[in-house]
Amino acid sequence: MDLASPAVLKAIMARYGLRPQHRLGQNFLVDGRVLDAIIAAAGLDSGDLVLEIGPGLGTLTRRLAASAGRVLCIELDRALVTALQETVLAEFGNVEIIHGDANRVDLHKLLTERLSPGRKAKVVANLPYYITTPLVMRLLEERLPLQRLVVMVQREVADRMVSPPGSKAYGALSVAVQYYTEASIVKRVSRAAFLPQPDVDSAVVRMEVRPEPPVDASPEEFFRVVKAAFGQRRKSLANALTALGVTKDAVQEALQAAGIDGNRRGESLSLEEFAALTRNLFPVARA
Ligand code: SAM
Repeated sequence: MDLASPAVLKAIMARYGLRPQHRLGQNFLVDGRVLDAIIAAAGLDSGDLVLEIGPGLGTLTRRLAASAGRVLCIELDRALVTALQETVLAEFGNVEIIHGDANRVDLHKLLTERLSPGRKAKVVANLPYYITTPLVMRLLEERLPLQRLVVMVQREVADRMVSPPGSKAYGALSVAVQYYTEASIVKRVSRAAFLPQPDVDSAVVRMEVRPEPPVDASPEEFFRVVKAAFGQRRKSLANALTALGVTKDAVQEALQAAGIDGNRRGESLSLEEFAALTRNLFPVARA
């Protein structure tokens, strides 16, 4: 069954009376080469547990099931869960589909219950666009037992994830993704690879979860500083940081001790500079 063929996909949708739900970000992948690139980037073997968010009609799921040990899928649309019985479950015994909202289910529990001791899971998914950023943030911040994420996202979000300090796309998402992972763009994908075609192009991003943060600062305070620095983009760093509830003098002292010019803007700071600033703004928390 080649679900990457638009004709096959359309026939299955007709059989189940399905119409793609725009509000659920249902843009189904219909390009076999893109599927190949995702599978290659995931680097799966028979010991792997894969978490797929939004299996849709199972196009990617079937490929994952053929390469990984076990695939756990979370799909919000009940009608698709029914169709997945035919397109995936009838043929593959190593796939489990959970009907639910990926933003709400207890991912930690679901993964730890299924992982062998000492192993970590991989997330491989063509994500629904309307929740990409909060979902990726959740996957990273909850410190789930994950080794790697290979996800399809809007191209503009992919650029934000990998862009370096000082570039136009650099922001709080870039800092978070680069703090938790080593991220790179695997493949840029045209909107023509989907049915129906979305209004934007996409990209596949691969994120290798770091065993340790790359900089020395308590994550909680580090992200408070990052949030304040990007919270008021048009303000200088010195002004923006007063949102942390610290005095102007304390901000000036911390900036000076960290060797950072307060007239700079948050979008020019590297992760190391954010960490130095955090250590100087919150020295007590480190004791
Ligand atoms: N994996 C399929 C493919 O590549 O063709 C479908 C990908 S489609 C971009 C996104 C999928 O995520 C849809 O099946 C949609 O119903 C599902 N979805 C949307 N919101 C969701 C949520 N909150 N939790 C779980 N799945 C969701």
